[in-house]
Amino acid sequence: VLDYFEQKCQTSKALATRASEVIPGGVQHNLAFNYPFAIAATKVDGAHMWDADGNQYIDFLQAGGPTLLGSNYLPVREKAHEILDACGPVTGLLHEYEIKLAEIIRQHMPGIEMFRMLGSGTEACMGAIRLARAYTGKKWVIKVGGDYHGWSDQMVYGMRVPGTGRREATGIPKGVTGYTQEVFPNELGTLRRKLMLNRIRGGTAAVIVEPLGPESGTRPVTPEYNREVRKLCDEFGALLIFDEVVTGFRVGMGGAQGYFNVNPDITVFGKCLTGGYLMAGGIGGRKEVMMALVGGIGTSSKRAFVGGTLSANPLSCVAGYYAIEEMARTNAPILAGRAGDRLARGLKEIMNRRSLPYVVYNMGSIVHLQTSAVLLMSMRNPIKLMREANARKHLMEEMGAAYLSQGLLTLAGSRIYTSMADTDEVIDDALNRFDTVFGM
Ligand code: PMP
Repeated sequence: VLDYFEQKCQTSKALATRASEVIPGGVQHNLAFNYPFAIAATKVDGAHMWDADGNQYIDFLQAGGPTLLGSNYLPVREKAHEILDACGPVTGLLHEYEIKLAEIIRQHMPGIEMFRMLGSGTEACMGAIRLARAYTGKKWVIKVGGDYHGWSDQMVYGMRVPGTGRREATGIPKGVTGYTQEVFPNELGTLRRKLMLNRIRGGTAAVIVEPLGPESGTRPVTPEYNREVRKLCDEFGALLIFDEVVTGFRVGMGGAQGYFNVNPDITVFGKCLTGGYLMAGGIGGRKEVMMALVGGIGTSSKRAFVGGTLSANPLSCVAGYYAIEEMARTNAPILAGRAGDRLARGLKEIMNRRSLPYVVYNMGSIVHLQTSAVLLMSMRNPIKLMREANARKHLMEEMGAAYLSQGLLTLAGSRIYTSMADTDEVIDDALNRFDTVFGM
């Protein structure tokens, strides 16, 4: 596999070497997709990506999730060009598309009475937590261990470096995370105990969850989990925050909240929200809660301050509006989900035929490839699971490199996002390539 990279990706390698001189770690994004070095992309179109050496890949990274319509989708690109010609990317004023974006989100997710655009999923999670604290006047926030809610101080603190016990993120004083607590996925008893304890020491402002379970279902939660968390939040007067950065529009136009029929108080958006155009983040919820972003209404002194020079730019709002309209018109979540089903079915067949210790499962267009031992452990011993999952990360990176060598671009070797552009032919082509990798 490493020979492949030497021979076929020489331009990427040279660029990656040059990049490491001026960019920390050699990439501007997460390091996880870039083993043994970053592949430099020159063109993306629909289901495919081409690198700087002219190699073609089936693109199951999908930019990390936003491009459910397929990469560089023309009808949205055309609208983005129109707005750029008319206003440029940013005005700092109100544009009608800001309203249209909020309205079309509400149309598909009726619980989102009001919507505030922000810069990224990370910012949106920060904003949601601040909003919950301002609205409730309480201070504790409970998250699920292994959930990813961006890289803000209080949310990234618990993450561990793969294969070690060390914290992923240093440079965060303990006081900053003092009011953030973690519970294991699926463990309702611990959640209840923390909520009870917090009641006598300032109260819980919010419980924040990824509705499919940590890392988009890498460690899945049971179908009842979200409903049970909702009930506990109601019992203890905490807000429920759904982080729908990945699931929003991807698992259905109504998001995970529509799929599970659970109404969160605050929803966090990112990724698909703008079809991959800058900037992709926002928070939405009931009007009463959302108005705490304004504050000073009536006798209320509650105000959660959020800002952002580039947050409300016409480019993102146009891209968001048309991406959502197109996803609904074309049934993109369903088509991408069918592609995910076909791929997962085919991968299971390969694993069975070759007797490989893998578990393949999908939630529509989100497909997971995991070693079976890790999943078994998630049922029995959550602490061991965390350690094993971290140790496994490097193995999955190596698998990711093997997939790349056969022209398959995945998310760190263990997750696959399908898009509407993944026709049966594309999926069957991909399955042949996966079969080659597993025969290597
Ligand atoms: N929440 C979830 C569930 C995510 O998957 C991500 C990004 N992968 C984020 C938040 C952070 O979003 P962003 O990268 O836009 O800051």
